[in-house]
Amino acid sequence: ALDPVRTCLPATLNTQVPLVTGETVEYANLDHAASAPCLAAVRDAVDEFLPWYASVHRGAGFASQVSTKVYERTRDVLRRFVDARAGDTVIFTRNTTDALNLLARSVPRHTSVVVFDTEHHAALLPWRGPNVQRIPTPRTRLAAVSAVDSALAATPVGPRLVVLTGASNVTGELLPVREIAAVARRHGARIAVDAAQLAPHRAVSLRELDVDYVVLSGHKLYAPFGAGALVGRSDWLRAAQPYLAGGGATKLVTERDVVWNVGPERHEAGSPNTVGVHALGVACEQLARNWAAVAEHEHELLTRLRRGLAGVPGLAELRLFDDDGDRVGTVSFTVEGYEPGWLAAVLSAEYGIGVRDGAFCAHIATRRLTGGQALRVSLGLGTTAGHVDRLVLALRQVVARGPRWAYDRVAGRWAP
Ligand code: PMP
Repeated sequence: ALDPVRTCLPATLNTQVPLVTGETVEYANLDHAASAPCLAAVRDAVDEFLPWYASVHRGAGFASQVSTKVYERTRDVLRRFVDARAGDTVIFTRNTTDALNLLARSVPRHTSVVVFDTEHHAALLPWRGPNVQRIPTPRTRLAAVSAVDSALAATPVGPRLVVLTGASNVTGELLPVREIAAVARRHGARIAVDAAQLAPHRAVSLRELDVDYVVLSGHKLYAPFGAGALVGRSDWLRAAQPYLAGGGATKLVTERDVVWNVGPERHEAGSPNTVGVHALGVACEQLARNWAAVAEHEHELLTRLRRGLAGVPGLAELRLFDDDGDRVGTVSFTVEGYEPGWLAAVLSAEYGIGVRDGAFCAHIATRRLTGGQALRVSLGLGTTAGHVDRLVLALRQVVARGPRWAYDRVAGRWAP
């Protein structure tokens, strides 16, 4: 059985970080939703590949052949990872933001788009124009499904697309993707799922969810930065103008004309991030082999975390929905009387804990739920029960002490 913690790169687990007191402590990374540490297997695969990366597709040399093989093999890995349909295309991008912008540029003209206003900016902002309906996220999942139904009913004739996150990067709550996909189908609409936060925690199946597109980021899936993907229906992508103009996207260029490729290369102009793509593929394979262990690890720690947070005076957890539903290991909260940025700084300086504070690139969601900002704790494979306990203890201590303390370097202690 997989030991989730050992699966992570050992170096990222035992990193000692300095505290304001001058001591050091093992870093507790509770910010996996931003970027997750590299898996040991990913590091090993990248190490092995580094001497061989070269230009893909166009080189005759051995290294180019190896690189092309690795790069194209990863398309199949991604296809399997999201259980794509025959005929779906896999386009490598820099990240989720890039993939969603590519999709936004590739939908037919006059496509009506329906999107909840609490989405991450990457899913909210690429869609512009009069045919975009941003709908307020209702307080229950059932109402969310009806809201999409009503919004689609109000769209004019023509192509339609629903854009939806699989799991909220603010609250960790899962959205009712399957139910919304069924509504989309009834209206002849397509649906794109932003799986940036879902894919690191749950198996995502295009077929089972009956969705048209899925996008994800390698750096949230325990691979390094720089590679992501858009997977889904080929027709719109094949017909769209190339996302980037340049080498690799073309079949033939003459003095007068350009013939663009119709496959995934159409949107992958320029030398691709072969190393990043390989890392992404290996991370996906690791996760796909170990979903049961990943889920169990996360479930245990999330239960521990939420039980601990419930005992912190003045702490209020953020929720998009009033109904209880499935969720991933991401929890945001406010603590009455405490500024989230200050709390995050104290957790780092005094306890060696890394969390995120602010509005999480989902300003509308965070402002609606808090009136301002929040603190976010997100668990992952590298998280231990000790990290969770340290956070809960830290919050209890800080709250017991009061909000106006600062570290007095001369006296070597915290003082009001
Ligand atoms: N969507 C969601 C739900 C996210 O959490 C994020 C990252 N915070 C993104 C999109 C954007 O991902 P990236 O920064 O990798 O493009």
